[in-house]
Amino acid sequence: MTFPSPKHDHHACTQNIVSHAEKVCARTGARLTEQRRDVLVCVAESHQAVGAYEIIERMAAHGPRPAPITVYRALEFLQAQNLVHKIESRNAFVACSEVHDGAPAALLICESCNNVSEVLDRNAAAGLIDAAKVQGFTVKRSVVELSGICAHCRSA
Ligand SMILES: [Zn+2]
Ligand SMILES: [Zn+2]
Ligand SMILES: [Zn+2]
Repeated sequence: MTFPSPKHDHHACTQNIVSHAEKVCARTGARLTEQRRDVLVCVAESHQAVGAYEIIERMAAHGPRPAPITVYRALEFLQAQNLVHKIESRNAFVACSEVHDGAPAALLICESCNNVSEVLDRNAAAGLIDAAKVQGFTVKRSVVELSGICAHCRSA
């Protein structure tokens, strides 16, 4: 995966995210309902993190306005399937089309264009989890956020 370039074909990204979600749900037996898929498509509208309020606005722009609770529940479902990640520092969400296989997400957040990408490094994650175990700590959930400037913004 590469950091999204400002000139890329985002239509392909959206299609990729939806087909990835279908595959993941088919494998895990989870149900990708129409509403959950709609929420995912709205999150995936761009590579910038989006808050729950803006997701509701996006849904209302092309259909009936959803109740906030249904959007929150759909986001919880999508997070549990690793189809969406929450950026804790911004209380916002990004869609994911990576195969995690148990590796936690490390999110790359550009401070200039606000686009978000991610890196999957099983060894780095395992190193942190092992270090936590040494302290007798069992990791249940981990979110790594790396904030900085992407290559596109740096060269601009
Ligand atoms: Zn894209
Ligand atoms: Zn991911
Ligand atoms: Zn950038």
